[in-house]
Amino acid sequence: MIRTQVDLQPFNTFGIQAEAARFGIFRSVEELKSLLSAHPKDESLLILGGGSNLLFTKNFDGLVLKNEIKGIEVVQELQDEVILKAGAGERWHDFVLKSIELDLFGLENLSLIPGTVGASPIQNIGAYGVEVKDVFHSLEAYHIDSGSIHTFFLDDCAFGYRDSIFKNKYKGQYVILSVSYRLRKTPNLRLQYGAIAQELANAGIQEPAASDISDVVIRIRQSKLPDPTTLGNAGSFFKNPVITLEKYTELKNAFPEIPSYPVDAQHTKVPAGWLIEQAGWKGKRIGNCGVHENQALVLVNYGGATGTEIFNLSERIVSDINQKFGIRLEREVNIH
Ligand code: FAD
Ligand code: NAP
Repeated sequence: MIRTQVDLQPFNTFGIQAEAARFGIFRSVEELKSLLSAHPKDESLLILGGGSNLLFTKNFDGLVLKNEIKGIEVVQELQDEVILKAGAGERWHDFVLKSIELDLFGLENLSLIPGTVGASPIQNIGAYGVEVKDVFHSLEAYHIDSGSIHTFFLDDCAFGYRDSIFKNKYKGQYVILSVSYRLRKTPNLRLQYGAIAQELANAGIQEPAASDISDVVIRIRQSKLPDPTTLGNAGSFFKNPVITLEKYTELKNAFPEIPSYPVDAQHTKVPAGWLIEQAGWKGKRIGNCGVHENQALVLVNYGGATGTEIFNLSERIVSDINQKFGIRLEREVNIH
């Protein structure tokens, strides 16, 4: 069923008030097809998951379709691995917890990321040294123009840092229906990142199970990141810039303490949060929005902010960082 003039505030984690001209929910591919059958080709379309990676800067003058396709199942059991498939509308964190309950390894570092399974390949979600591409098996997607269903395997997705083919060549062309992950029956742990190893040591855990790592990641995230149910946000607003070694040497001479993480022989990654903090933005509030006090990469809505206010704040940060460091920050959040 399609409703008109629907308030999108409950459907985006920034808590921005914006209206969808038309809004529907689908729980199966049949329901999706039926909703799309009354969708004129010239009407804008937005497929919505948990709304945790987007910013509405105006009303959405088109059709918003919220994905609620559910179900988690083991589709194949191999000697060392299990292929676990989930409907695109499953909550990502529930899927991670289910994999852990099944004694499978691979998703534990990605615990507590908001949003849906269907959005997970779109920006190749990542945290604590693991990205979707490390454990991805395949996905099924509905091609909006032709009405056919296509399967994409790892090599078809052009995964990159917070990037995939669905943000570029195929942007807006597909609705992801389900995603399958290749998970291991035995541990292949990634513990070297950030505070994970330290936290495990503090807890006296020497041979961690996937659930131990998940618990640690949940604790670290809860201590650092604002909970969108109490303070509107969409996680990291900007991507960490990947710069040439030449540019990095220039910056290192000017700012000897600048952190960096190697990417390849010619490039390195600089934490955008560090740049924003150095430029004096951390904790700064402007009107109803601001830069989070513990994590400078996260812009927050203190209540009543408009999407335009938040977007304008992001523009000021981009311009300031460009002026101070000669780096143009790219937004990770999708602007609508
Ligand atoms: P939405 O915001 O609903 O949609 C995002 C984009 O994907 C939109 O363009 C939408 O049209 C498209 N889309 C969604 N579902 C589908 C579908 N089924 N088919 C086709 N297109 C679709 N991200 C990380 O990578 N790592 C993190 O650690 C992380 N931490 C976060 C912490 C917080 C507190 C918050 C608020 C966000 C965080 N994020 C993180 C960002 C966000 O959670 C992820 O990008 C997540 O995958 C978005 O899922 P969603 O369902 O909310 O997508
Ligand atoms: P952090 O540990 O304080 O680190 C700051 C930045 O430095 C991170 O963005 C991370 O890049 C990079 N970094 C740190 N240690 C690294 C290592 N050993 N190898 C490579 N890069 C390293 O970060 P945080 O803010 O608390 O977030 C922790 C993790 O959760 C990060 O992976 C982050 O991406 C993820 N996260 C993402 C979002 C989002 O919305 N996208 C929101 C919150 C947290 P990477 O980001 O490339 O890992």
